[in-house]
Amino acid sequence: MTLKPPPLRNDCFALPAGVNWTPVDQALALLKTRITPVTGVETVPLAQALGRVLAQDVLAQRSNPPLPNTAVDGYGFAGAVAEGEHILPLVAGRAAAGLAYDGSVPAGQAIRILTGAALPAGVETVILEENVTLGAGEIAFRGPLKRGANTRKAGEDVEAGEVILSQGRVVTPADLALAAATGVSTLEVHLRLRVGVLSTGDELREAGEEAAPGQIYDANRPMLLTLLAQMGFEAIDLGRVHDNRAALQDRLDAAAAEVDVILTSGGASAGDEDHVSALLRDSGALQEWRIALKPGRPLALALWQGVPVFGLPGNPVAALVCTLIFARPAMGGMAGARWQEPLGYQLPAGFAKHKKPGRREFLRARLRDGQVEVFKSEGSGRISGLSWAEGLVELGDGALEIRPGDPVRYIPFESFHL
Ligand code: AMP
Ligand code: MG
Repeated sequence: MTLKPPPLRNDCFALPAGVNWTPVDQALALLKTRITPVTGVETVPLAQALGRVLAQDVLAQRSNPPLPNTAVDGYGFAGAVAEGEHILPLVAGRAAAGLAYDGSVPAGQAIRILTGAALPAGVETVILEENVTLGAGEIAFRGPLKRGANTRKAGEDVEAGEVILSQGRVVTPADLALAAATGVSTLEVHLRLRVGVLSTGDELREAGEEAAPGQIYDANRPMLLTLLAQMGFEAIDLGRVHDNRAALQDRLDAAAAEVDVILTSGGASAGDEDHVSALLRDSGALQEWRIALKPGRPLALALWQGVPVFGLPGNPVAALVCTLIFARPAMGGMAGARWQEPLGYQLPAGFAKHKKPGRREFLRARLRDGQVEVFKSEGSGRISGLSWAEGLVELGDGALEIRPGDPVRYIPFESFHL
């Protein structure tokens, strides 16, 4: 048997020389430095603040807890308790949450106290009721117990004046609990970013309409409009336009007056019918981004009368990936949010794949039995695969030989609010 060197791989010059493909990370870094908030600010009550972007740091108006209190139901008294048996007389009355006990508890005596009650004067320590035998007007229990046991200090969670939530944060239900607990009742938030969605293409019909054999239904608009709403933006339907430059120009003019950013799909490449890129190019505002990304053909970025336009690929799979990877963090930045990187997890692959170098790839994927499975086809026309998927696998820019069990980066759709 003779030993042979490996043959040259036919993809060893995968990217043609002289063509500049921008790596995904570089493109994102560029967007990150150029994007600034574009929306105004309003004050809203907590009940309306979920999902909104904080325009200012939020300070605690009071400490949490505001007073030292008990963490359990039991009996309170002063100081620590030594090892051994103890009997303490009970004072009359009790301390309960919201009902301050206005007397003070003399040293050597105890008081009935319920969870959340402020510690009455003279009480430093609480013993759990389960560890006590209750007699007539007295309690018996066993030590030891440290001073302060089963109590919470004033401000041990949050001190008044502390920054509890910082500018650029997207408000969560738990944030509302924190704000309410610390005496905050309204929040300064950015106005919602208004995002217009426009589909382009002579072949497109609306769901529910008759479609001739050569026509297809507009799949991008229902997907993008609802996705944007889920991401917390105000999604505005700009309808469909034919591959007609004048019509497109009119629609963009009208849209620029009422939205903060425009997402178009279709017509973004350099073909004869690619009116979006042609129009943007002629207006002098086009930045064509040849991003080394699959799926996703050139992404057209432009300013139309000062309004950013993301010219997404027409293909629904590519349109979705470009929206999640590029448009989402950029729109977040325009909405005033901190730059958002999707949360991904290293998980074992449930598939094998040979990946070419020179571009980042996103595969439609889902998690089953602790392994990441990928859709049976990588064809970017397979909309069924988008629906099948519950996330994306992100494969780095270089060549990769993935075998079952190898760790891959899985990004659940939830990470994109999808
Ligand atoms: P284009 O980027 O205009 O060349 O479109 C690429 C492919 O995506 C073509 O097969 C189009 O028919 C298809 N396409 C474009 N827009 C949509 C849309 N809104 N819904 C579904 N498919 C689309
Ligand atoms: Mg088209």
